Amino acid sequence: MAEQRVSDGPLSLDDRRLLVELQSFGVRVVGGDRTLGRRGGAGPSDALFMYVRGLPLTVPQHAEYVGGSPYTLRLDGVKPSLFREDELVGVVGLPRRPKIYDMQTADGIPYWKIALLHLDSIASTVVQKCIYWGTPEQCGFCGIELTRGEQTIPVKTPAQLAEVCSAAHEFDGAVDATLTTGSINRRDRGALYISRCAAAIKDACGIPVQVQFEPPDELSVIDDVHRAGVDAVGIHIETFDPDVLARVAAGKAQCGVEGYFRTWERAVEVFGRGRVTTYVILGMGERRELIEEGCRRAIEMGVYPFVVPIRPVPGTLLADTPTPDPDYVAAIYRSVSAMLAEHGLDHVEAAAGCARCQACSGLSAWERVFEKEANGGHFQLGTVQAS
Ligand code: SF4
Repeated sequence: MAEQRVSDGPLSLDDRRLLVELQSFGVRVVGGDRTLGRRGGAGPSDALFMYVRGLPLTVPQHAEYVGGSPYTLRLDGVKPSLFREDELVGVVGLPRRPKIYDMQTADGIPYWKIALLHLDSIASTVVQKCIYWGTPEQCGFCGIELTRGEQTIPVKTPAQLAEVCSAAHEFDGAVDATLTTGSINRRDRGALYISRCAAAIKDACGIPVQVQFEPPDELSVIDDVHRAGVDAVGIHIETFDPDVLARVAAGKAQCGVEGYFRTWERAVEVFGRGRVTTYVILGMGERRELIEEGCRRAIEMGVYPFVVPIRPVPGTLLADTPTPDPDYVAAIYRSVSAMLAEHGLDHVEAAAGCARCQACSGLSAWERVFEKEANGGHFQLGTVQAS
């Protein structure tokens, strides 16, 4: 199917409502190729990629709860069409099958086992294993080892990644690379290895690269990552509620919430404001006030909080967690986007990675309602009132 992008334009309140509902409820696919998205893995691991009202979006497709979604994507007509119940929402854009999915390395490894195209970002879970997996420290939302075997190779080399990312840039228009890893030790957590991979990608094709890793034991690792040529880092706290962090991600909770802030502080010094991001997952039983306080503190220091609703992935420990109420998600998007505007932080500064892409969050749809005052450099509410 040819790629279709819907033109950008101002988003109405109904548009933003649509985005949060799609991310919380998911979409059922009828007709055509029903295996459009990913299953398992790190990041947006149950995800159908599409463009809705001009915004890139990843939407749950495979989880059981999607069966109750009011949204259906019909692929049996002339154009891919989104319905809410029986009502036509509109035509949506679907990415075409990437050319690199039909390519392989000289020794016969399909490129799609090395990296996947997430809309216009080429992404890889470089080391598909984690020291926490199968232990009480495993993160409840994570599916990193679910896709090992037929779907991927467990460890990708710098040379393999350089080859695939260069091809994705050349043939599929990938504008950046996003590299993540399981925690492979209790020292640098894998940061140094993925930085070597990032260096190889940059040498080969020069695209910006974001790498994602846990806070390392020594802050000097952050300098090593920067020296490797990495453009941006994702150091993901997942939640600012310490009780929830301890319950759902015991391994990641060991450095404590303050450990993340210490790491971010150094990372912002080295990489700059906006080049450091963190996932903040909604819907795990967190206290809202702690989420908003944490986001405010992160934003003030120059860290972009990439807020997303939990996407319970089949096979993970949190597979049966209900998805969050869209009104709750929208309320957090609204308050966090206001903080971002107040502090002049924008997702476009991220350079690479999840915050640059935005498809797993609806935050950028709310960011659009703020505009910078012409004089003074302050931000204020734009002509579209935030809901
Ligand atoms: S640290 Fe947690 S989220 Fe990261 S790979 Fe390990 S189990 Fe998954």
